[in-house]
Amino acid sequence: MPRVVIAIGGNSLIADKDHQTVQDQYIAIAETDHHISALIAEGWDVAISHGNGPQVGFIMRRSELSRGELHEIPMDVAGADTQGAIGYALQQNLVNDFQDLNLDKSVATVVTQVEVSATDPAMLNPSKPIGTFLDEEEAKRRAEEEGWDVIEDAGRGWRRVVASPQPVRIVEIDVIRQLIDSGVVVICVGGGGIPVVADERGHLSGVAAVIDKDLASALLALEIEADVLLISTAVEKVALNYGKPNEEWVDHLTLDEVKQYLEEGGHFAEGSMAPKMRAVVKFLEGGGREAIITNPVNIAKSTAGEAGTRITR
Ligand code: ADP
Ligand code: MG
Repeated sequence: MPRVVIAIGGNSLIADKDHQTVQDQYIAIAETDHHISALIAEGWDVAISHGNGPQVGFIMRRSELSRGELHEIPMDVAGADTQGAIGYALQQNLVNDFQDLNLDKSVATVVTQVEVSATDPAMLNPSKPIGTFLDEEEAKRRAEEEGWDVIEDAGRGWRRVVASPQPVRIVEIDVIRQLIDSGVVVICVGGGGIPVVADERGHLSGVAAVIDKDLASALLALEIEADVLLISTAVEKVALNYGKPNEEWVDHLTLDEVKQYLEEGGHFAEGSMAPKMRAVVKFLEGGGREAIITNPVNIAKSTAGEAGTRITR
């Protein structure tokens, strides 16, 4: 059976600013699931990973607003909460699809920890802002009392920042492999995984950090020897000179071309398409056959080479 890792982006969960509720997210997920089910019906083995940035933000904000009455939620636990809740919605919709399609398939969500290195340079230089703006006094108090890293964000106020380290090891990889080997559709590595570090004894503990979901998905795809890494996002294809007058949407790129364009800069925006392209490079250099960037409606078509941007060695 051909095997694919589908990394679904924020647009599969939140369609737009006016559709953010749990029910809205469920509807958006149902839509993406229909396209994934079509692929499963064709005989593909599928592992699904997903983003969780806004969802972690919502939980942290709720936690903040209820301070004084309820305990706060640590960031790693918020990540675990989102893996469960998003996994649940994906799982329920897939099961419903399998019922309608008469498919004899099972699906399971694996709460996934991803080990990062405590000495990763990114850990020593936290730079990814999360949560709401704080006033200076509050920011400094939390830095003092809770060890938060805080920065003054371009004159707009203070914010907490966390590190975005490299994913080193998927802790639950053995069970993920066993599930996919036995034909189960697996939802895992949500939000890039819950970042954990190991101590001298190898004991794990959660850290407040964010792992790039596309990079962690590339690691997953290599670990389960997927044929294809499919990154589903808000655009059908990748553009060169994105947003410029000479913008050009492409059907196919080679690994060497992607590396060259990443180096040149100006093609893939940082924080959105550039990390996807770095994930593609990681997958193909690690032995992967093919990566695809496309949007949810084109998931099945793209694996047949009829949509999206394909990147091959
Ligand atoms: P996701 O939630 O799926 O990770 P992102 O917003 O992080 O989504 O990244 C996808 C977005 O990247 C696209 O919707 C598009 O707006 C933007 N983008 C940046 N550079 C490019 C490019 N070269 N080609 C296509 N889209 C690009
Ligand atoms: Mg993204």
